[in-house]
Amino acid sequence: MNHFDIFQAQYKAWSILSRSFKTGRVASTYLFHGSEGLGQWLLAVSFAALLNCSNPRKTDDNQHPFYPCGECRNCRNIYGLNFIGLFAVAPIGPYKKLDEAIEMTNEFVEKKRQEPLGRLSALGSLMLPIDMARLVKKNLSLIPDEGTTRVAIFYRMDKMLASSADALLKLIEEPPSGAVIILTAERPEALLPTIQSRAQGIKMDRVPTEVIVDYLMKKYSQEKSKALLIARISEGLPGYAVDMVAGEEDDESSRRSVGLLLYKTLLTESPAAMILLMDELIDFKNRSEVDNLLYLWQTLVRDCSYYAMTGDDQGLINIDFVPEIIKLSRYFGPPRVTDGVTEAIKNTLADLPLNVHIQMAMAALVLKIKRTIKSAPVSAG
Ligand SMILES: [Zn+2]
Repeated sequence: MNHFDIFQAQYKAWSILSRSFKTGRVASTYLFHGSEGLGQWLLAVSFAALLNCSNPRKTDDNQHPFYPCGECRNCRNIYGLNFIGLFAVAPIGPYKKLDEAIEMTNEFVEKKRQEPLGRLSALGSLMLPIDMARLVKKNLSLIPDEGTTRVAIFYRMDKMLASSADALLKLIEEPPSGAVIILTAERPEALLPTIQSRAQGIKMDRVPTEVIVDYLMKKYSQEKSKALLIARISEGLPGYAVDMVAGEEDDESSRRSVGLLLYKTLLTESPAAMILLMDELIDFKNRSEVDNLLYLWQTLVRDCSYYAMTGDDQGLINIDFVPEIIKLSRYFGPPRVTDGVTEAIKNTLADLPLNVHIQMAMAALVLKIKRTIKSAPVSAG
């Protein structure tokens, strides 16, 4: 079994799946939706294990009446991604022949074996290959071994061309008996309406910090304080946390994530919460770190205010944070808020080289900004 406690991490989703198993009302098609890296893969694999487990663990918990035992032959093979009745179709790069597509899919599966929470690489354009989908469809049409519930995972279904998905519609609408199809997608509305309506949607939740901390400590031997920091920065997205540990997020991008988290907290939470978080995340002895943070905030203020005025997301500077900027722009309706906040940051930046007490200067800045924002009502929406 994996160190990651997927049943706690996706408590509600597992409740739906576990109860459907108990009542014998397993749907033929599921759609797990939410940001990639929330544990979709592990949830799908765990459900496949439960469906095939020879000795499911029964509990008194109404929310989670069943778990896979994790120890029987089927459980071990499924968690080891080595099960004759488990199929995966995943986004891959361009390929020429089916052989190549199979090989690339196997590479994806191998990565999932190493780290089931990992996310697809952002490099290159990946697409869900119709040839693999057809192959799985063909395999599912063969007569299964007795007692096997076959499970096909279409990982990131939103990466499939609509025309290709169309060709699979019949399979998704009516999987062969004894088969369950699990689709995952970041946004359900990215899929064909006919697929959405035929699949039972299951929303993936943000994962509690302690589940992520526990995982980083057990699997990656991280110190508790470091694990906690990474878990907080990941904001409930374990896939992002493991990318950070594996060093796939470079220093610059994790620095920007910390800066954004602080900026968000500054706007949305109490000054006390913000000051506590700064104590945790900022090294006040390092002046250039604080400088960089304030420069980042300046551009974020500029973007939020620009979006508040124009509603245009094309002209933003921080293109890696567009959804957050759109959300936070509601604080920057009146121009005097933008002016006040910008001026406060500028003054603090000017003070820093004068060897002021940096920590206190930052606390004062937080209070100043909160006052400025408070003086203007936040627009709805
Ligand atoms: Zn089992």
